Amino acid sequence: MTESEKNELRESLVGQRNHVLKDVNRHGVMTGVGAGVIADETERADKIADNVVEHQLGYSESKLLEKIEYALQRLDAGDYGVCDECHKDINIERLRAKPSVSLCIHCQSAKEQNGR
Ligand SMILES: [Zn+2]
Repeated sequence: MTESEKNELRESLVGQRNHVLKDVNRHGVMTGVGAGVIADETERADKIADNVVEHQLGYSESKLLEKIEYALQRLDAGDYGVCDECHKDINIERLRAKPSVSLCIHCQSAKEQNGR
């Protein structure tokens, strides 16, 4: 994977994360929880890292957020784009379509067939 591909995927991940976090904040305002308390992005991320996430997010959203965080960590660690199961490179087009994936297409479909 080239540096520019990495940057592209990182931007995509950060964009997705912001999108999910924006939803969290909106829910927070709607329910009156955390409204006006959260000052900036960093603090917001910290708050979400606490247990707020379970109350504010649906199951699929919090799972997605987890995957995005994990992918960003792996980008920083330099092992992003490698399948968790078979340790082969994940197809770049697959990553572009869904940058938060951590399994290659083969392992993913095997997992789905096993009912997760
Ligand atoms: Zn694999």
